[in-house]
Amino acid sequence: MIPSALTAPDPGWTARTDVVVIGSGIAGLVAALRCRAHGRVLLVTKALLDAGSTRWAQGGIAAALAPDDTPGEHLTDTLVAGVGLCDEDAVRTLVDEGPDAVRALIDLGAAFDRADGGDIALTREGGHRRRRIAARGATRRARRSAGRCSPRSRTPVSR
Ligand SMILES: Cc1cc2nc3c(=O)[nH]c(=O)nc-3n(C[C@H](O)[C@H](O)[C@H](O)COP(=O)(O)OP(=O)(O)OC[C@H]3O[C@@H](n4cnc5c(N)ncnc54)[C@H](O)[C@@H]3O)c2cc1C
Repeated sequence: MIPSALTAPDPGWTARTDVVVIGSGIAGLVAALRCRAHGRVLLVTKALLDAGSTRWAQGGIAAALAPDDTPGEHLTDTLVAGVGLCDEDAVRTLVDEGPDAVRALIDLGAAFDRADGGDIALTREGGHRRRRIAARGATRRARRSAGRCSPRSRTPVSR
């Protein structure tokens, strides 16, 4: 029989909002920023705002952004580097949507290193035959940049 109420203990706090996003990594932050247009957003996370993997990602994001690059070449390089372990459909989605995803991050306020002319300073890493890594310099600078985009932190206490 299905119980009519949850048997879990009462919540420690309650809040009224339009959207709840769980997790304060890059996925949660992007979702929260996008949902802002639809009402009040409450971001709930497990411990500290910057706990999780996102704060450690320092190598950059690979995307076929250079004029002489294509998602097709990125696909080939990824499948070669993946030595048969890749889900090709997933890789295809990532390489096809990657360039627009990076541009969307920039629109949201993410900062990447720039070349003298203003273009993103793409670097090259193992497995890539083109320069396609958009990064934010040293880890410390990246963290400072991420901190500037951080949401306001608050611990709700109302019951
Ligand atoms: C050392 C390291 C280096 C990396 N370098 C790169 C790189 O150079 N380039 C790259 O593209 N990727 C890199 N990655 C991978 C990248 O960091 C992750 O793919 C990405 O950050 C995942 O983002 P996410 O938002 O999905 O997860 P996370 O950033 O892990 O966020 C998950 C969030 O959910 C919260 N959460 C978890 N459980 C609960 C719960 N029960 N209730 C509430 N909240 C919860 C966590 O507190 C956290 O805020 C690296 C990862 C590591 C660990």
